Amino acid sequence: MSDDRKTQPAGTPERPDRAQLLRQLGAEEHAPVSIDGALVHRSLRPGDAAAVAAILSQLRGSDIAVVVRGAGSSPGPSNPPKRADLLLETTKLSGVDDFDPEEGVIHVGAGTRLSTIREAARAAGWELPLDPPGTSATLGGVLARAAVGPRELGFGPARDCVLGLDVVLADGTVTRCGGRVVKNVTGFDLARLYTGSCGILGVIVGAWLRLRPRPAAVKALRASGFDRPRLLAWTAEAALRGTARAAGLVTSGLLPGGSTEEGCLAWVEFAGEVLAVEEDANATFRALPGVEEVEEAAGPLREWQAASLGDRALRARLHAGTGSIETASAALEEAGFAQLVYPGTGTLYAHTRASALHGPIKILRSLRERLGGDLCFEEMPDDAKADYDAFEVSPDERQLWSALKQRFDSEGRLNPGRGAGRL
Ligand SMILES: Cc1cc2nc3c(=O)[nH]c(=O)nc-3n(C[C@H](O)[C@H](O)[C@H](O)COP(=O)(O)OP(=O)(O)OC[C@H]3O[C@@H](n4cnc5c(N)ncnc54)[C@H](O)[C@@H]3O)c2cc1C
Repeated sequence: MSDDRKTQPAGTPERPDRAQLLRQLGAEEHAPVSIDGALVHRSLRPGDAAAVAAILSQLRGSDIAVVVRGAGSSPGPSNPPKRADLLLETTKLSGVDDFDPEEGVIHVGAGTRLSTIREAARAAGWELPLDPPGTSATLGGVLARAAVGPRELGFGPARDCVLGLDVVLADGTVTRCGGRVVKNVTGFDLARLYTGSCGILGVIVGAWLRLRPRPAAVKALRASGFDRPRLLAWTAEAALRGTARAAGLVTSGLLPGGSTEEGCLAWVEFAGEVLAVEEDANATFRALPGVEEVEEAAGPLREWQAASLGDRALRARLHAGTGSIETASAALEEAGFAQLVYPGTGTLYAHTRASALHGPIKILRSLRERLGGDLCFEEMPDDAKADYDAFEVSPDERQLWSALKQRFDSEGRLNPGRGAGRL
């Protein structure tokens, strides 16, 4: 595959009209910031949706490319920007604007950290059903990536908690889809489209979220010292229980030293009504010798989800589906991949290190072809990013994304190149 990136090398003189326009907008000039290899020299931090709209409408007709950034914490799946002239930071679009503690419905700015939303919810007896790795992630970054954590088993995908989104389109139009009322969406649900679109269709400026009641009881269990098939069966069975909220297995190749002697590690978490949690935890506890009750299961799993094998690491996320997870996991073990497996959602994170990625990627692709599902690359060496699209989309999917990009951002201004199919 050829490298179609057109990053702007440091020191390239800008066209005067472009520089003038950026100055007029009040863009702060600073030392270059690298966004996946594309250098940006100017930033803006608008304070509200109207300011985002004013910026984007003034850019209409220009060739200025805007890269959107929340906390900038995500090493998750994304392609490098093709162009990057202005960094639009969302951190000032932050705060809880509206909260109905009776209904568990909240409206927050897209630049708000998940930790802030989580605290506000918890204080009123609710919990935020989003738990991706990382402590500084913003709501906009998480929704743009559709990022999830181990509790996806209990919470569902990121889009499930979104009741409505406020989005500023590339031409500066302020839009709202959905709203605070549950199920008020008729026709095509745009909020679902924006969630996971990597910011290539619009800038998310705010969201209505549906919270969940805090569970009356939570129990966490940990099992160790068994091989992968045994622990996978244990976690898969636990994941089927009514109160299961997280269940995951880490294979020995991911553990420090890659020890095979200690076998694999697995955690499960149950949450809900006291008696139901007790029943599920007891049955799972008895299903395997040596299981121990622990303080936390989701925390360690979240850390393993963000784990990296370091230099020249490849981390791929394969959503094979619950019916194929055992086959996928066995095939990847045979091929030498370390793994984090969430059998309850059918998701698997495959890790390897290689000087040449062609071989491991061929294995992952053929597995995806055989089993179906989605494949994306969450981490890969910088020098390989030109050769592999982070999102393994089919020609049909690429065509669909291309049509959407054309419809939503015909000038190709927002996050150009970062999305599926390098759009
Ligand atoms: C070590 C570590 C590893 C992680 N690994 C993964 C992973 O592999 N996969 C995963 O999904 N998550 C992962 N995460 C979770 C992380 O929480 C999310 O990826 C989240 O996107 C980060 O939020 P952010 O505010 O830092 O986003 P940023 O890094 O700032 O942005 C992420 C993406 O969202 C876009 N974006 C940000 N804000 C907006 C907005 N308001 N409107 C439109 N687009 C926007 C950006 O342009 C960019 O493409 C990881 C976190 C950590 C700390």
